Amino acid sequence: MTPRFDTVVIGGGIVGTTAAYYLAKAGKRVALVEKGRINGEQSSRNWGAIRTQGRDRSEIPMMLDCLDIWRGIETELGESVDWRQQGQMRVIYDDSMRARSEAFMPVAREFGLTTQLLTPREVAEMLPHYDARDCQGALFTPTDGNAEPEKAAPAFARGAVRFGATILEHTAARAIDLWNERVCGVETEHGRLACDTVVLASGAWTSRLLKPLGIRHPSLWVRGSVGRTGVLPIEMRKLVVWGKCAYRQRPDGRVNIAVAEDGFHDIMLESAVHGLEFLPLAGRNWRNLRFHLGTPLVRSLMGEFADYTTHRTLDPMPDWKGLRKAANHFLAEYPGAGPIKYERAWAGYIDYMPDELPVIQAMQRPDGLFVAAGLSGHGFGIGPIIGRSLSDLIVKGRSDYDLAPFSARRFNPH
Ligand SMILES: Cc1cc2nc3c(=O)[nH]c(=O)nc-3n(C[C@H](O)[C@H](O)[C@H](O)COP(=O)(O)OP(=O)(O)OC[C@H]3O[C@@H](n4cnc5c(N)ncnc54)[C@H](O)[C@@H]3O)c2cc1C
Repeated sequence: MTPRFDTVVIGGGIVGTTAAYYLAKAGKRVALVEKGRINGEQSSRNWGAIRTQGRDRSEIPMMLDCLDIWRGIETELGESVDWRQQGQMRVIYDDSMRARSEAFMPVAREFGLTTQLLTPREVAEMLPHYDARDCQGALFTPTDGNAEPEKAAPAFARGAVRFGATILEHTAARAIDLWNERVCGVETEHGRLACDTVVLASGAWTSRLLKPLGIRHPSLWVRGSVGRTGVLPIEMRKLVVWGKCAYRQRPDGRVNIAVAEDGFHDIMLESAVHGLEFLPLAGRNWRNLRFHLGTPLVRSLMGEFADYTTHRTLDPMPDWKGLRKAANHFLAEYPGAGPIKYERAWAGYIDYMPDELPVIQAMQRPDGLFVAAGLSGHGFGIGPIIGRSLSDLIVKGRSDYDLAPFSARRFNPH
């Protein structure tokens, strides 16, 4: 007999696991299907920044409430996710960075954020081992925080299971079944699951699952790389600092260093399909955009990414050149850190949208489909409130937030 659920969630990242958690907590019968393992892709590979700072104003009301979720999550889930409310810092090195930082201040004031502009001296006081020679100040939001990406989504998945959710790993969803323009099930590689509603939280794979339904979701994959050092003989506030490189000292003293400024796009079949829509974004960031023509193009031409079982977990090659450059930047800023050697390094494909905003929507056609994807490189921090909002849309039929800016209609006018 076909197993039946109220909701099937597709994707076990931060959005899918939190949606499953809040739905199961609200009493729904939930199954989460994940083609690889829970937290295999973006949600475990990011920097861990949980920030209101620098966000588009449309995301800020949700993000402010999301900070409340993060503050209480370790108590609620009964386990640590290394949550730290130590702030988010964007170091200013030049006039263009200063202009961008100053431009955020009216937004910060409008929403009552704690964001402030620091002097170089204040930066140095906060980061005692930091050599502030090139620093012209910083944008700083003390109430922002960070958490460990390797821990957060698995903790929500375990929480969902405690409320009765079924988690099916190594189970790729192949298609969303419809009957009379309504969702009625999900075809997986291991058979069919019947359900009334589907949450599509499939990150970088979303456009492929929506295409057969005639819904455009123009996201492109941008590769982000991170390296982890050994324990360094420096002490810094455990916050996320974003400058010439980005870094976060972990509770164990190791430092995650990331290639911060460069967007690295592996050219694939989709680059031609959606590329034109990205021209304005590329134009604004042309100095920091790098393209790579190689194996991913060949693989996409061979149709490898059309099958959800060929790449159980997307695990692209880290950008070693960029990581070496980032290590040199870090060493210039922390001369006392000694030689920087990475113990490990990884990369992740970010699902970028042309306007850098996600799609979060209860679709009308087909009815019963709820999409949350395209989080454009800043979805870890805001993920839990998106998961809770999806649950509200399904359970209460409404969300507490204005989701209009995140509508899929901006790419599907008809
Ligand atoms: C290097 C890097 C740094 C970043 N830094 C930050 C940061 O500091 N702060 C921040 O807020 N965000 C950051 N991000 C972005 C953040 O990680 C993502 O926006 C967020 O994790 C997206 O979560 P998700 O659940 O939508 O997607 P994912 O975590 O990618 O999860 C989607 C899941 O769906 C599964 N799936 C796909 N197709 C199927 C299918 N057909 N069947 C079953 N399962 C399927 C995938 O296997 C995957 O596990 C960063 C990302 C990267 C890569």
